[in-house]
Amino acid sequence: FPIHSADFVISSPRADKCPEPDMPEFAFIGRSNVGKSSLINMLVNRKDLAKTSGRPGKTQLINHFLVNEQWYLVDLPGYGYAKVSKEDRKKFMGMINHYVKERPNLINLFVLIDSRHTPQKNDLEFMAMLGREGIPFSIVFTKIDKLSSNQVRKNIAAYGKEMLKQWEELPPQFKTSASSKIGRMEIMAYIDNLVDA
Ligand code: GDP
Repeated sequence: FPIHSADFVISSPRADKCPEPDMPEFAFIGRSNVGKSSLINMLVNRKDLAKTSGRPGKTQLINHFLVNEQWYLVDLPGYGYAKVSKEDRKKFMGMINHYVKERPNLINLFVLIDSRHTPQKNDLEFMAMLGREGIPFSIVFTKIDKLSSNQVRKNIAAYGKEMLKQWEELPPQFKTSASSKIGRMEIMAYIDNLVDA
C-alpha cells in the first residue's frame, strides 16, 4: 500500500469546524500513550506526521490529514488522562461524541488499546457508546512486541469476553506493533477496501 502523499490539513477545536466532509474519513482514538502517533506514522510511512500527544491539559484538537488525496486520516485527542478535571473530561467527551455522531463521512473509527492492559473501564464504556450509537469501529491492539504472543492472545480474549457481555458480536480487531511494522498491511487493506467501496 504505497503512500504517495500524506499532508496535514487542519486542526479543529470542534466537529463543526472540520473540513468539508467530501472524502471518506478514518479516525484514530485511544488513551494517551497508547501508541497512536506511532501507529499513524507507521501506517503512512512518515517519521513524524502525527506528533506525540504530549501532556494533559494541552489543547485538544481534531487533526485532519489527507492521504493519497483520497481519504482523511483523523488523529483524535487522547482520552483518559488521570489528572484532567471532571469538567474538562465532560467537555472532551462532548467534543468526541459530537465528532463521531455528526461526521457523515466517517467510515471507521479505530479504537486503540494497549495490548498489555487488562480491560479498562473507560475503553469499554467508550466502545459501548459507539455500539449504542451505531458508529462503525474496530479495535487496534497496540505494542504487541512488548508481550509474548500467548499473552497477547490472552489479553485480547479478556477484552472479547467483556464485550460479549454486552454485544452479540465483536468488532474487527487488529494487532499492531509500530516498532516492528506489524499490522500495517491488514489495516491499510481494510481502509483501502472501504475507500473504494
Ligand atoms: P500516543 O500518546 O498515543 O500518541 O503514543 P505514542 O505513539 O507517542 O507512544 C507512546 C510511547 O509508546 C512512546 O514511548 C513510543 O515509543 C511507545 N510505543 C508506541 N508504539 C509502540 C510499539 O508498537 N512498540 C513499542 N515497543 N513501543 C511503542
